[in-house]
Amino acid sequence: AKAHGRSCFRYFSDELTRAAEQRLDLEVRLQRALRLNELCLYFQPQIDISSNRIIGAEALVRWQDPAHGLISPAQFIPVAEETGLIKQLGEWVLLEACRQGKEWQQKGLPAINLAVNISPVQFRNSNILESVFNALKQTGYPASLLELELTESALMTHENEAVEILSALRKYGIRLAIDDFGTGYSSLAYLKRFPLDVLKIDKSFVDDIPHKKDDMEIAAAIVAMAHTLRLKVLAEGVETEEQLTFLKEQGCDCYQGYLMSPPVPADQFEQLLRAQAED
Ligand code: C2E
Ligand code: CA
Ligand code: CA
Ligand code: CA
Repeated sequence: AKAHGRSCFRYFSDELTRAAEQRLDLEVRLQRALRLNELCLYFQPQIDISSNRIIGAEALVRWQDPAHGLISPAQFIPVAEETGLIKQLGEWVLLEACRQGKEWQQKGLPAINLAVNISPVQFRNSNILESVFNALKQTGYPASLLELELTESALMTHENEAVEILSALRKYGIRLAIDDFGTGYSSLAYLKRFPLDVLKIDKSFVDDIPHKKDDMEIAAAIVAMAHTLRLKVLAEGVETEEQLTFLKEQGCDCYQGYLMSPPVPADQFEQLLRAQAED
């Protein structure tokens, strides 16, 4: 039993070492990617449900690694958060989103709202006001067309400080959205303390429409309660007409999802905007 225990331990520690090595490797490669500009942004349209028109886009980071191909943010954002690289990465995303937005504006495309994800670690540990103002100043992109997506966990740790930061951003004309709503611990009553504009219903409540009654009731309740707080509601991960119909019936304002389009590279998003401008 002893020998078995020892080999078990060795197996386990080898596994740990391998995991640590892989993470270190990823960290070093990510650092390099930032330096060599191997990251890019994809854009997913946000649709106004009543007019069925694109009114915005969420910017989503992608890593085109020459050796490993396209790496998903779900893989490298957590590493960036743990190593502190998220500050640099987050600043790059803000700057690049504003740069792209400005370019579209200069090309005469219809004005849309660009939504940028802010990691809770980035929100807590870096000067987010400075990063945002700097990106706007450097690019000339208007604050009124920028939206920041924050999660519940970003707001919950230092509540008073968070309220102050959000108020300063909002005063400047930036819109604020709460992302993945329903997956954290906060209630809508709690959200009332924060100066928010948009609530994004998490995809997990949309996935089983129209098959799961309780998810449908939750989605409906979120829409109704968000409206009493004067928040605009956007549903995430809408993939079917049935889901959209149900959300529309509930009075949901906007949606994002594969039904309209997955996240696409900037030039493809531009085509979507142009096609819409023509009709
Ligand atoms: P998120 O902010 O909740 O973004 C939505 C994710 O759902 C995106 O995955 C998007 O591609 C995916 N999605 C959208 N519509 C559908 C749909 O209809 N069906 C399905 N199955 N999926 C859909 P993505 O781009 O892989 O991003 C994953 C997560 O990584 C994001 O979740 C966000 O938390 C994080 N992330 C992405 N870009 C950034 C960034 O620039 N900064 C930070 N801090 N986090 C980012
Ligand atoms: Ca998001
Ligand atoms: Ca989300
Ligand atoms: Ca999510």
